Amino acid sequence: MKVITTTKEMQEIVQTEKNNGKSIGFVATMGFLHDGHLHLIEKAKEVNELVVLSIFVNPLQFGPNEDFDQYPRNGKQDEQIAREQGVDLLFSPSTEEMYPNEPAVTVSVLRRTNVLCGKSRPGHFDGVATVLTKLFHIVMPDHAYFGIKDAQQVAVVEGLIEDFNFSITLVPCQTVREKDGLAKSSRNVYLTTEERIQASSIYDSLQSGKAMIQSGERNPAQVKNAVVSLLKENVPLGDIDYLELLAYPELESLTEVTGKVILAAAVKFRSARLIDNIVWSV
Ligand code: AMP
Repeated sequence: MKVITTTKEMQEIVQTEKNNGKSIGFVATMGFLHDGHLHLIEKAKEVNELVVLSIFVNPLQFGPNEDFDQYPRNGKQDEQIAREQGVDLLFSPSTEEMYPNEPAVTVSVLRRTNVLCGKSRPGHFDGVATVLTKLFHIVMPDHAYFGIKDAQQVAVVEGLIEDFNFSITLVPCQTVREKDGLAKSSRNVYLTTEERIQASSIYDSLQSGKAMIQSGERNPAQVKNAVVSLLKENVPLGDIDYLELLAYPELESLTEVTGKVILAAAVKFRSARLIDNIVWSV
């Protein structure tokens, strides 16, 4: 595995590989690698001759009062894990390398961001779309792998690829979970023991909501109220940031639960805000 820290070298290498006919699979991460990231790498390895992993904690996607400084980082361990997983190129630029100057141009996401994390974290998806536009130009992948755990991000990236005419196939990948159902996340390390126990009920509560719908409930408000009650009861150490049931990927509200939907939650603990969701066709 080659570790690359400059955009110039990255572009030169991928250009050479592309000229040699190699297909490139890309996994963009903020590091502190866990099994969710490794699943994306596995998927990328299945169909691409070259797998590129980026590790970059992107300041543009963090709000002023968010956890950019506290976001967990472990460069050396990540490098070892990436090597063991068979990543070919690890791109880990510094902030100065990615943003040598105050950006003159940024990307603004106009749709699918007025709800869920886009509503709770103003500017977050503009930061995500801006850094991904840069990374897509630097890595020039054929396939890009994103976790459905960040389902709104998948919906935004779908729009980015389509509207900006990237020749990239987006590959959404299933959420990898702990044994008790908690979605794997770099931020889980910040949960206290008690919070960690309660956090598994986030997924349980979402599943209960899904079960209600599968049993015939079609009123979105009924389902949301029931899931909110479950969260309040079983996750008392967390504040519910949102609990939503929307059409997916449009992320528009529903009058009746039908079609492809997302049931999504964000819960704030003292030092970690966790998100999870279930996407399925009713
Ligand atoms: P992050 O490092 O949190 O920005 O995540 C990088 C990529 O890994 C994103 O596409 C995430 O959606 C994906 N990812 C994060 N957690 C999981 C998980 N538990 N299962 C599957 N994919 C995940």
